Amino acid sequence: MTHILVLGAGYTGVAAALRAARGTRRTGGRVTLVNASPRFTQRLRLHQTAAGQRPAEHLLADVVAGSGVELVLGRVAALDPAAREVRLDDGRVLGYDKLVYALGAVTDASVPGVAEHAYVYDRHDQAVRLAERLGSLTGGTVVVAGGGLTGVESATEIAESHPRLHVVLLSRGRPGAMMGPAARTYLDQALERLGVEVRAGVQVMKVLPGGIELAGGEHLDAAATLWTAGTRGLPLAAASGLSVDTRGRIVVDATLRSVSHPDVYAVGDAAAVSQPFGVLHGTCQGGIPMGLHAGDVLADELRGRTPRPFRFGYFHQPLSLGRRDAVIQFTRPDDSPRRWYLTGRLAVAYKEAVSSSPFPTFRMLKRGLVPVRAFALTAGLG
Ligand SMILES: Cc1cc2nc3c(=O)[nH]c(=O)nc-3n(C[C@H](O)[C@H](O)[C@H](O)COP(=O)(O)OP(=O)(O)OC[C@H]3O[C@@H](n4cnc5c(N)ncnc54)[C@H](O)[C@@H]3O)c2cc1C
Repeated sequence: MTHILVLGAGYTGVAAALRAARGTRRTGGRVTLVNASPRFTQRLRLHQTAAGQRPAEHLLADVVAGSGVELVLGRVAALDPAAREVRLDDGRVLGYDKLVYALGAVTDASVPGVAEHAYVYDRHDQAVRLAERLGSLTGGTVVVAGGGLTGVESATEIAESHPRLHVVLLSRGRPGAMMGPAARTYLDQALERLGVEVRAGVQVMKVLPGGIELAGGEHLDAAATLWTAGTRGLPLAAASGLSVDTRGRIVVDATLRSVSHPDVYAVGDAAAVSQPFGVLHGTCQGGIPMGLHAGDVLADELRGRTPRPFRFGYFHQPLSLGRRDAVIQFTRPDDSPRRWYLTGRLAVAYKEAVSSSPFPTFRMLKRGLVPVRAFALTAGLG
């Protein structure tokens, strides 16, 4: 028996575990999946949770039921790659032959005050806490820091659900800067329609209990501050001696194997994965194919086959603008914008299909129905 231990049951860890279980069951694989909480965290919908909506809950036990994957609930506290052991925070120790590290990322809290005073999306309960705070306010300002897709989705969702609150979106560059000019103009109009005040070209120096301080000394009062401006890998990867990049993500080779520890694979937001156009940034779009690929690599290894390199190209940037509007920017494989984009109802339906798609994918994976590299075939790169 080869014991495959998958750490983290988010989108990518579940994909890896289900794929590995299916691919190795005839060659003596045993798969254990470890996660801190019993629920599946729908990270793609945390901005909806923060705005006070209640997206459907999925228990991990149901997600993996019937797959042969053993689920262990516990928080990973430390790794010892030399001893091939993982320690949980309650003292349990789990051994492995092969490890898939899929613990995601956490907020980069290097700006003073973020850890103490800002709301973040690291865990589901933190989005719930923000929802409670927003629900308790009768007025005032909510600051959303970060003009990337998560910041824009959060600002629009909060503004639509809480029209009595004044939402300010702070961004170093222009919000949605990665999109093409037409999609960006649409996004700007949506922000204006929802009453979101955009402050572009600003830098936050400090988050305070009741506001924030900008470079130059300007102070903004805020009844709540949501921080979406950057993530990092968990410190435990570097602490265990694994090679990590400047953002704490595990550096892997073309088969998603750690460059420093050959029994360790890393996928999703936790991994620094290079493609010819650069290092991938954290998305489900790229993360689920990585999870599937890691499962296939492990199956190949057990069969004595040479694993294939991971190849991926981006396809789209799907962006919700509240529940009634959205904009989808189609992209080249390197994530640069193409001319095509969708808006309005069609875009809302598209975005909803994207956000719901992991669950049918997991069901198909349990039945062995997801074709090899199905998700990596985007943009003709597969
Ligand atoms: C609001 C929002 C909207 C987004 N929208 C999109 C989108 O439209 N399209 C897209 O492609 N991407 C989107 N993303 C990004 C996407 O959600 C992430 O890239 C994706 O979740 C990464 O998957 P993952 O499996 O690597 O990490 P995660 O989904 O974060 O899963 C990590 C898992 O590890 C568990 N864990 C963490 N630490 C420990 C520990 N110490 N011990 C045990 N378990 C632990 C967590 O509980 C979690 O289950 C969005 C992100 C946000 C926040």
